[in-house]
Amino acid sequence: CDSRACVLETRGLTKSFGGLVAVNAVSLRFLERQTHAIIGPNGAGKSTLVNLLTAHLPPSGGRILCRNTDITGLPAHRMTGLGIGRSYQKTNLFPSFTCFENCRLAAQTRLPTSMRFFRPAARYREINRHAEAALDLCGLSARRDRVAGTMSYGEQRQLEIGMVLASGPEILVLDEPLAGMGREESERMVALLRGLAPHFTIILIEHDMDAVFSLAEVLTVMVNGTLLETGPVEQVRASVAVRDAYLGD
Ligand code: ADP
Ligand code: MG
Repeated sequence: CDSRACVLETRGLTKSFGGLVAVNAVSLRFLERQTHAIIGPNGAGKSTLVNLLTAHLPPSGGRILCRNTDITGLPAHRMTGLGIGRSYQKTNLFPSFTCFENCRLAAQTRLPTSMRFFRPAARYREINRHAEAALDLCGLSARRDRVAGTMSYGEQRQLEIGMVLASGPEILVLDEPLAGMGREESERMVALLRGLAPHFTIILIEHDMDAVFSLAEVLTVMVNGTLLETGPVEQVRASVAVRDAYLGD
């Protein structure tokens, strides 16, 4: 029994593309300050699930609840106001802008809810403050004025986490944050995520099993759009079905 509040929940969430059911009646609960990893082979429906959770795709069926409020069908731009921030499987920053400018742009997305009543000068300071704080949290303060596109791939992905943080989320939805990284870059990213984990709900789609096992409390395995298994990470890891279907040991 876990006393932490449920911040995000899916009930029978389903997404079809024509005849293909990419996400099939998925029911999951994500708790406050919990890291929940979702694994599964390519085509399992992980990215589609992320796109549903962040309203980048409309579901074909089922519901999404945020702190017990039904948010099914809300537009994507409302998700930031609900505290749901996401990164993408491919890099999504503005390469000709500096790290600070990228974080500033992301910080502006908090405007509608939390800064509407600020006067322009105060609002400007607030945005800058959030951008600086996000740079600090993602470990890039020393790169503040570097043009993003001139940094290493690993630093660019770090900056993307910073941009998510700048938007003021409670829930971080991260689609393969280690994709394409070398060992050293992966280790830096895992350390960054471990530092964030006590403060945020993290929904982590990731192929790197070492990273998953070192970060996740809860592990969900998806195959062909459905949940094969979900539960505490050690329990799921030990499951025969999971080993046969996915882990291959
Ligand atoms: P994963 O992220 O687990 O690799 P995806 O969610 O990307 O899986 O894809 C799940 C299935 O849905 C795949 O068969 C994929 O081809 C299909 N799919 C994903 N997005 C679309 C789309 N926009 N249109 C049609 N089919 C899609
Ligand atoms: Mg994917």
